[in-house]
Amino acid sequence: MALKIRVESPKVKYTEDYIEAQYEYQTTKVTEDDNINYTVTPVSTNLLIRTQLKVPKLGVMLVGWGGNNGTTITAALLANKLKLTWETKNGLQKANWYGSLIQASTVRLGRGNKEDVYVPMCWMLPMVNPDDIELDGWDISNMNLADAMQRAKVLNINLQKQLIPHMINMKPRKSIYYPDFIASNQEKRANNIIFGAKFEQLEQIRKDIAEFKTTKNLDEVIVLWTANTERFSEIIPGVHDTAENLLKAIKEDHSEISPSTVFAVAAALEGCTYINGSPQNTFVPGAIELAEKQKTFIGGDDFKSGQTKLKSVLVDFLVSAGIKPVAIVSYNHLGNNDGYNLSAPQQFRSKEISKSNVVDDMVQSNKILYQPGEKPDHCVVIKYVPYVGDSKRAMDEYTSEILLGGHNTIVIHNTCEDSLLASPIILDLVLLAEICSRISFKLMDTEDEFTGFHSVLSILSYLCKAPLVPRGTPIVNALFRQRAAIENILRACLALPPENNMLLEHKAN
Ligand code: NAD
Repeated sequence: MALKIRVESPKVKYTEDYIEAQYEYQTTKVTEDDNINYTVTPVSTNLLIRTQLKVPKLGVMLVGWGGNNGTTITAALLANKLKLTWETKNGLQKANWYGSLIQASTVRLGRGNKEDVYVPMCWMLPMVNPDDIELDGWDISNMNLADAMQRAKVLNINLQKQLIPHMINMKPRKSIYYPDFIASNQEKRANNIIFGAKFEQLEQIRKDIAEFKTTKNLDEVIVLWTANTERFSEIIPGVHDTAENLLKAIKEDHSEISPSTVFAVAAALEGCTYINGSPQNTFVPGAIELAEKQKTFIGGDDFKSGQTKLKSVLVDFLVSAGIKPVAIVSYNHLGNNDGYNLSAPQQFRSKEISKSNVVDDMVQSNKILYQPGEKPDHCVVIKYVPYVGDSKRAMDEYTSEILLGGHNTIVIHNTCEDSLLASPIILDLVLLAEICSRISFKLMDTEDEFTGFHSVLSILSYLCKAPLVPRGTPIVNALFRQRAAIENILRACLALPPENNMLLEHKAN
């Protein structure tokens, strides 16, 4: 495979199969005494990091394929692959991947002859080319993807017209529908359902995954939930707590197992990565344990696309500037089917929970501003206003305390075309999760085996509102810390030091 970037260093070895980097991972250990004095000890771990070079033939299966996100990511993949252009009132528009961290953002590689050299993030390591992704999926509505794209009213009509012939034969597979888990207003869409007991439905989803893999001759399949937001499942001991109990509960047709959890179980049993793009608690403890046992990856929860993304930047900016946000009030109104589903109280509650913890790590990082347990008031309101369709309005007010009792209030009005923000995030989740499956580590100079990332892929946090992390590990919500983690891990795979932004070579005398 032709690599876009090759590192000249005795610490990097290239073979036909992999890149191997010798990497010194540096952290610090801190101890605190009774008088709040700190002792800091630098810790250094020498690692070997291997990245397999063979890019797999990748299939992606979307749950909720016929929804606004499902049709929009399908359209975006096709439009880019076919290099489509279309007339708009502002001139000719070309397909692009704007909004994708991997495809449309750049990483500073270092200093060139005269200026800094930036490269697309996807050049850092050999990644799946989006043009090569095979797509499939399920939906409780049997509408073909061309009609569903038109129903979504997201894309320019001239683009839609070109895409119709490519999407008309795409038909979602039958899915699992338990009316109790999504809003009752979704019932009329549900005409494409796998009947039977939960165990039979699980078996059918497993068959679908296996059949897709064989028919398209795929090396790997990633399953991603972009279906409606479900209510939270009530976690019941003996039902959701272990992998064994969860499988038993599915066999016994337990009513408190959600469709999204059945999909997570099916994916794990088929050896597939499963990503949850919605806020509900799909990953009950038993589902996490099952992924760990199966050595599959999971990631989530809830795409971080608009308001929350901005919040995870703005609150980080305020708190790290020594300013104290004291009230954060967020209103949303939207008119797409997601908004319709969220107009039901239990589904709104899932979204509210997912949006609520997003500032916690930033607040906890500053004991000058916040006493232990103190948090800003944080309120989230979502209303369904059909006319605005997919063009979601998010209005936020950030009130902060500044010097000597003064106040600072920032008000933001964000009009964001929801599915056009979410679709590149779907692509990023898939591409990042895939490359993570080809990276493994071991301590240098030991006989240890190489091991991969933990089943819970916390590296996906940048893309998720309520990041799922391995038990007992820190949750980072601050957007640029999350981005730096991705960038520096990709650099580590090439034995490059973390980007430190010191630019000392330009600062010293
Ligand atoms: P949508 O309502 O347009 O699409 C959801 C699709 O899922 C529908 O076609 C519906 O028929 C289908 N569905 C429902 N239950 C199903 C099941 N059990 N199996 C298979 N299909 C099922 O919604 P959307 O705008 O595409 O958003 C999808 C999800 O992504 C929502 O949960 C939303 O909260 C979440 N999300 C979206 C954004 C964003 O668009 N910016 C951001 C964060 C999270």
